[in-house]
Amino acid sequence: MDEAIKIKVDKGEMLPLMEEFYTIQGEGYYKGTAAYFIRIGGCDVGCHWCDVKESWNADLHPPTETSKIVENAKKYSDTIVVTGGEPLTWDMTVLTTRLKEEGLKTHIETSGAYKLTGQWDWICLSPKKMKLPTDEVCEKADELKVIVYNKDDLRFAEEQAAKVSKDCILYLQPEWSKRDKVVPLIVDYVMQNPKWKVSLQTHKYLNIP
Ligand code: SF4
Repeated sequence: MDEAIKIKVDKGEMLPLMEEFYTIQGEGYYKGTAAYFIRIGGCDVGCHWCDVKESWNADLHPPTETSKIVENAKKYSDTIVVTGGEPLTWDMTVLTTRLKEEGLKTHIETSGAYKLTGQWDWICLSPKKMKLPTDEVCEKADELKVIVYNKDDLRFAEEQAAKVSKDCILYLQPEWSKRDKVVPLIVDYVMQNPKWKVSLQTHKYLNIP
């Protein structure tokens, strides 16, 4: 990468943009809400069931001026979801400052594995066993969304729930490829432990991105 571009990426003035699209948030607290998604490339968390593995290598995604991303996003929605990849691989300060200057609501979907940067109206923390979330992101998370691939993930979910604030909303979400096996497990668990709620990837049922 050109040195001048690298400096801008390091400052968050440019970000490796993988894709952006206007759709319906399918998961968690805001499910069913129209939102503009900005997917930033780059992630080294390494979930084996990841359904966006093409996001991992940031070099495959063009460094894009943050101002350009914001100019585009504001045409579509007042709710912007920043996802990845792992967006906190990068400094989110410039992006979120500009989005908020435009009066837009900023949401992030993160594993929380890296330093929390940016100003967020909503933090969806989806922690991963391979790289645990930082204390700061746990304290500030508005929703905790644990992906359940097998029974051990329920134990992991309780460990993570012990770290978030008392107001944080707790979700268990079946990993898509295992949903037939895992949904009955989650349903049973939530009925026995009603502090949890079920989250489904409703966008996949709706056949939208
Ligand atoms: Fe994929 Fe997210 Fe895991 Fe990264 S943290 S590997 S993007 S599921």
